[in-house]
Order: sequence, then structure tokens, then C-alpha cells
Amino acid sequence: MNFLEQRILKDGVVKPGNVLKVDSFLNHQMDIALLDEIGEEFHRRFADKHVTKVLTIEASGIAIAYPVARCFGVPLLFAKKSKSVNIDGDMYVAEVESFTHKNKNQVIVSKRFLTKEDHVLIIDDFLANGCALKGLISIVESAGATVEGLGIAIEKGFQCGGKQIRELGYQLESLAIVDSMDAQNGGLVFREQK
Ligand code: 5GP
Repeated sequence: MNFLEQRILKDGVVKPGNVLKVDSFLNHQMDIALLDEIGEEFHRRFADKHVTKVLTIEASGIAIAYPVARCFGVPLLFAKKSKSVNIDGDMYVAEVESFTHKNKNQVIVSKRFLTKEDHVLIIDDFLANGCALKGLISIVESAGATVEGLGIAIEKGFQCGGKQIRELGYQLESLAIVDSMDAQNGGLVFREQK
């Protein structure tokens, strides 16, 4: 079991509705040493990639993406959520349905910060149905930039996002993949990974 799986077992809380709460160490209070370890692990897994920018989505992706960007020595860019946007041509826009809040947001990235020369590593905290990642991929594609890979702290493997993204041919690395979880008894089963 790796360091993140161990921490999830110790401090994660399974909630009804297929929600895993990790707000004592990732999503509200943050364990900085753990975040640094996450950054180093993604740096190791994508060491052979040419990365010029790390892209995530606000708010909870930023904490995970920060140490990754620092390890690669590149800027961190985060997509901003907005209920409605006056699209004036200066922004890349994608529509993303929130798994946790059940609403739709437009997410925007300024064209000033993403160009066709960029090689992008996309990072987020959770992967459920894949809406957030697909939105970020479409923004990178709109810019004519290259997706070098995708890194996720916690994938819920019993939801469809991971399978769909891997079938698209991307290198998707999830540090912990939860294959099942039970809100009644708090039980969690992780997928075995190499
Ligand atoms: P997706 O777009 O893949 O359906 O959901 C991913 C997004 O929803 C992530 O950015 C994350 O913020 C949020 N999310 C999805 N599932 C969970 C969960 O079980 N726990 C928490 N804390 N956030 C989740």
C-alpha cells in the first residue's frame, strides 16, 4: 500500500452518495508534507515527458498541482469556474458538471497563458465521472497544445471517468484507485497497482 492509500485508510471518511471526504489532509486542512510527496511521485511517474505547464481546476486541484509544478519547475495554471461567461474571444471555455455540487459551471482559461507550444500535464484531486478532466482536455485541445498526461490523487475506479480517459489513449496516473467503498461500515478497497 502506498503513502496516499495508507493516509486515506487512516483519515478518509466514506459518505453516502459515493463521496470520499479527505478534508482533514487534502481538501480543507492540507498536510503539506503529504502534498510534497504527491508532487514528487507525479514528477517521477511523468519524468520522461516534456512538460511546460501544469493545468488544474479551482479550487481543490490547486493544492495538488502546486507541488507538481514546483518539481517540474514550470508554471501552474488553473481553470477558473464561472456561472456564465461573456465569451469575448480571450478565453478558452469548457462546460463542466460538478460531481460534488451537481451543478454546471463554465470553466475558463485565458488565451494569454496557454498556447500551441505548451506541453501540459493535467492534475486534479479526484476523478469520478471524468467531467472535470474532459473539460480540461478540451481546453488544451482548443489551444492546439499537447496533453502530456494526467495525474490524479484519488480515482474512484467504480465510476466511469478513469476507463473513458484511458480508452482515449492518454497516460493517466492515479496514486490511489478506490474500487469500492461502503458508507455503512466505512470500508474501502483499493485496486492493486504496480
Ligand atoms: P468528475 O468530474 O470526474 O465527475 O469529478 C471530479 C471532481 O469532483 C473533482 O475535481 C473533485 O473536486 C470532485 N469530486 C468527485 N468525487 C469526489 C469525492 O468523492 N470526494 C471529493 N472530496 N471530491 C470529489
